[in-house]
Amino acid sequence: MTGGMSSDEFRRYGKELIDWVADYYEKVESLPVTPTVQPGAIRALLPPNAPEGPEPFAEIIEDLDRVVMPGITHWQSPNWFAYFPGDSSFPAILGELVSAGLAQQGMLWSTSPATTEIESHMMDWLVDLLGLPEAWKTTGPGGGVIQMSASDSTHTALVVARQLAQQSTSLDNIVAYASSQAHSSIEKGARVAGYRHFRAIGVDDHFAMRPDLLVEAIISDRRAGLLPAFVCSAVGTTGTTAVDPVRAIGEIARSEGMWHHVDAAYAGSAMICPEFRIHQDGLELADSYVFNPHKWMFVNFDASAFYVADRRPLIETLSILPPYLQDAASQSGAVIDYRDWHVPLGRRFRALKLWFTLRSYGAEGIRTKIREHVAAARSLTAQLEGDARFELVAPTLFALVSFRHVDGDPPTDRLAARVNESGRAYLTASKLPGGSSFIRISIGQTNTTQHHVDELWTLIDEMADPA
Ligand SMILES: *Cc1c(COP(=O)(O)O)cnc(C)c1O
Repeated sequence: MTGGMSSDEFRRYGKELIDWVADYYEKVESLPVTPTVQPGAIRALLPPNAPEGPEPFAEIIEDLDRVVMPGITHWQSPNWFAYFPGDSSFPAILGELVSAGLAQQGMLWSTSPATTEIESHMMDWLVDLLGLPEAWKTTGPGGGVIQMSASDSTHTALVVARQLAQQSTSLDNIVAYASSQAHSSIEKGARVAGYRHFRAIGVDDHFAMRPDLLVEAIISDRRAGLLPAFVCSAVGTTGTTAVDPVRAIGEIARSEGMWHHVDAAYAGSAMICPEFRIHQDGLELADSYVFNPHKWMFVNFDASAFYVADRRPLIETLSILPPYLQDAASQSGAVIDYRDWHVPLGRRFRALKLWFTLRSYGAEGIRTKIREHVAAARSLTAQLEGDARFELVAPTLFALVSFRHVDGDPPTDRLAARVNESGRAYLTASKLPGGSSFIRISIGQTNTTQHHVDELWTLIDEMADPA
């Protein structure tokens, strides 16, 4: 008996819920991608107070269809083309199930040796799979850790960079840099970490950071008595998947003594295919790196892979040792205590879902999926390029297609609204740096195939205004 349920009931309802989830995946493609509920509609279906007595579990399951499903946005529909993917897979879901079942707290090696060691091993596997620098392995000077999100990973990098910079100046003088197209998590992380100065550096025609403008900003900040401490390169910006010149930025960071963080939250997954690694040239000049297996590597949220080239400054910055967290294994220096690698103390067994996914697909299975998505994105790109009504606004480097209607904002906005209102696909209407509208089509849901992208093209073709 755990939580008022016998293990027989747990078996029965557990199997029922697995069926329920499997049924969901079988039908999700036919559902409108976004729900039509009004704000407050889901809460209105819930009783005002928690139940005093136990309720039959069968009724709880029934309420999934009655209460929950009307308010679900179908990120796992193969017709999902919005934002970036937030993928799942059956092996990853089963990994989550086992993780919940074992309910580990892997804050120290000794509080769950398997949680720590499988996590370190998965992070090392990914170094080889993605062609990352060998030194980033936990068997070398660096190491990887699973964090909740890229935002947490970037925040952690900012904190370490701040700590290093504070050895030579006061917090008031420390500056962080990223391109004007960098993800909002960089500026937010800098704010949370206490930076008073954040500089958004200008970009070129392809929305990649201009190193000459970075140098100008650094010179002007130094003249003002400030200390450049942190710079972020993006490999695949959120807006248009632009790739900053990682090597050039890395060389500037080295010569300035700055921390260089690389944000590959989305595009990092593509590096499992060697043909994309040209976009991460210069990574050996990075001090830290993040990519999200929970975006495009078929692992359920949350699983953000954060690496440092040298783990010592990270651990020195975040390690605080109250007596109740000291033990022989930690003091031996032979183990990793991941509590010192991020803000939270408690941590769940997230490596299981990564382990299950990497083993079930095999690296080749993941490569095949990513290449299918990229091929579908390129075919859609070719269709848009061949049609006088449309123009691309950025190259299709991975599986994000960015385009607009040649007649400007109103027909571009109308097209996005019509597609989304149809419920047959869901894409994102966005704005370029100059303020003009464009449409982002992100191809990468686990089950999206060429067929779904062909259907999306049919919708676009039917719904676009003439040129
Ligand atoms: C999605 C994204 C992020 C934020 O990811 P979270 O894991 O949700 O914090 C950061 N940077 C880039 C480039 C992204 O695409």
